[in-house]
Amino acid sequence: MTRRDSILRELGLAPLWRLRECAGQDTQGDMLPAAAAPAGILPSPVVAQAPVQGARAQHIAALGWDELKEAVSACRDCRLCEQRKQAVLGVGDTEADWLFVGEGPGAEEDERGEPFVGQAGKLLDAMLAAIDLKRGKQVYIGNVVKCRPPGNRTPEAEETAACFPFLQRQIELIRPKLIVALGKPAAETLLGAEVKVGAARGRRFDYRGIPLIVTYHPAYLLRNLTDKAKAWEDLCFARSTMADQPGDN
Ligand code: SF4
Repeated sequence: MTRRDSILRELGLAPLWRLRECAGQDTQGDMLPAAAAPAGILPSPVVAQAPVQGARAQHIAALGWDELKEAVSACRDCRLCEQRKQAVLGVGDTEADWLFVGEGPGAEEDERGEPFVGQAGKLLDAMLAAIDLKRGKQVYIGNVVKCRPPGNRTPEAEETAACFPFLQRQIELIRPKLIVALGKPAAETLLGAEVKVGAARGRRFDYRGIPLIVTYHPAYLLRNLTDKAKAWEDLCFARSTMADQPGDN
């Protein structure tokens, strides 16, 4: 058994691998621009979210990595600061081609100060390995909110809005070639529209000129094992989208 077979077996995807090779696969065949989306799939047009304005946002937009890390650590601009042990900015290659964006830190992430280190993180690492990626090497992983929502609840709209300038600045500094939005809150925050993951996956969106792919959050996949096969299709689609980017090998 090859290393990739082992990874896919761990993901519960080995039979699928035999059915569908990822390399060169046109998984969905419909890299539609958002404007061509069938009516009703997404309730509002998906457009790249405009930069958040205001003095705070302008201040954040001028920060370098060190200042950004300090600003996030000290931030008390939404109520998620109240119960956090620490803010979690992100992890990985700060010049990565790939940016994966999740929802927010969980208990282990809050404890350790790194995103995706619990069970969902293990699954994300396996997903990355399945397409020959590795945490920290051409990959940056972050979240929509930097502080743990109590009880791992979904962040409120005002919390994601308050934290969005930090994510915007991260994206500006990293300048990734592709963004993968993991789950609904990440997709909605980045696209500035209501998103149904099941309808949005398999299509190419755009965040300020950067291709954006939507797939399921690993924590969701841990609870919904049958959707792992769809996540595998999405990863293949992401990889083929990346291969189409200028300068990619
Ligand atoms: Fe600040 Fe974001 Fe933490 Fe809210 S979630 S306190 S905006 S760093």
